[in-house]
Amino acid sequence: MKDLIIVGGGPAGLSAGIYAGRAKLDVLLLERGAPGGLAATTETIENYPGFPEGIGGAELMAQMLAQAQRFGLAVDSANVEEISCSDRHFVLKTEDGVLPSRAVILATGAEPELLHVPGETELRGRGVSYCATCDGAFFREKTVAVVGGGDAAVEEAVFLTRFAQKILLIHRRDELRATRVVQEKARQNPKIEFVWNSVVEEVLGKSKVEGVRVKNVRSGETNVLEVDGVFIYIGQRPASRMVEELVQLDERGYVITDEKMQTSCPGLFAAGDVRRKLLRQVVTAVADGAIAAVAAEKYLEEVKSAGKS
Ligand code: NAP
Repeated sequence: MKDLIIVGGGPAGLSAGIYAGRAKLDVLLLERGAPGGLAATTETIENYPGFPEGIGGAELMAQMLAQAQRFGLAVDSANVEEISCSDRHFVLKTEDGVLPSRAVILATGAEPELLHVPGETELRGRGVSYCATCDGAFFREKTVAVVGGGDAAVEEAVFLTRFAQKILLIHRRDELRATRVVQEKARQNPKIEFVWNSVVEEVLGKSKVEGVRVKNVRSGETNVLEVDGVFIYIGQRPASRMVEELVQLDERGYVITDEKMQTSCPGLFAAGDVRRKLLRQVVTAVADGAIAAVAAEKYLEEVKSAGKS
């Protein structure tokens, strides 16, 4: 049985791996895709401290992985479907079987909801973005579209006015879902134009975004809007399904933790975007991962000294 299994190989999971590896825990990290998480798909990360010129997301994550492996972190490819716990031992069910562990760090992240339209995946990272904080600065003096009408879409549209010269906020109804205060900020900003009752049917462009084809859902008319970027904010899904029977989640499915990253289930910690928190960024994910690993180490010591392991 492992001391610790980390689920998810994004910044939170890898940071937890660095700390757990250095602490000489018997630790395994499970990742269903390529290590690096969403951060690895970000072209340039400009706001991670220590890189004044920015650093490629893939490069930063490759360095984190190498650092974790240098401290002995074992990484395996597996899709964890369910985590259960009995008598302080966890069992992780994967497609290939079950893995037991004394402690678990859940670092599975959150995924943006996709529009599922042609061009969206093909041009992701080349004008299609799900993170204005990460990518907004690449659109100085450009025209961008923001899709969605909730708090996230409207707040990020306002944020983007710092860079872009024009923002087209495309919403499928003629009324925003966002709270009034947030709406007001957007309505008062002359750089934001609203494209009501419209859905994006296609993201256009060969090697980068050149426009979006939108359909007016009332008139049925379609129109091409020329934009340099498309920011999609139609909701997010935390990857917490595998623990929904085990830990307390908030109303949106994010895992609730205390400041030690401890969930409502002793020995199960959560770090990074899957956790309920204020700011979902690489810099906060790596901090969560470090705290979770140190807390897991203390937990394992306590369990051992109490003779429960
Ligand atoms: P959200 O509130 O669920 O809004 C999603 C928006 O996307 C809605 O306007 C929805 O349209 C639209 N949408 C959904 N699916 C779509 C599709 N397939 N095509 C086109 N449009 C689609 O999500 P969110 O903005 O990410 O916010 C999530 C939660 O976080 C909310 O509770 C929000 O209040 C909270 N939040 C709060 C703040 C803040 O307080 N400052 C900031 C960010 C987020 P409809 O309106 O027609 O359904």
